[in-house]
Amino acid sequence: MSKGYAKAFYHSKKWKDTQAAYMMSQNYICERCGETARIVHHIKYINPKNINNPNITFDWNNLEALCIACHTLEHKSHGVCNNDVMFTKDGDLIKFPLLKK
Ligand SMILES: [Zn+2]
Ligand SMILES: [Zn+2]
Repeated sequence: MSKGYAKAFYHSKKWKDTQAAYMMSQNYICERCGETARIVHHIKYINPKNINNPNITFDWNNLEALCIACHTLEHKSHGVCNNDVMFTKDGDLIKFPLLKK
């Protein structure tokens, strides 16, 4: 699964600002289990067709704050999403060690 197309998006300032603001609005709490959220997940997965559609990529209704466990679970059944950054417990963005496959 190629993730090249999404790289520019996930590293854009606009996305970083969006996910930081969204995380803050959720108080860094996982929306599924209540643990500390680390990743802003797109409910409708991003793909090469919708990557330029701000109604998908930047719509808060399409975002979900997830902890690592819930995010991993989500993608176990549906494939890895392209977001390769996550939040530390201090709210900093760092590179997410991507799951292989
Ligand atoms: Zn969770
Ligand atoms: Zn995801």
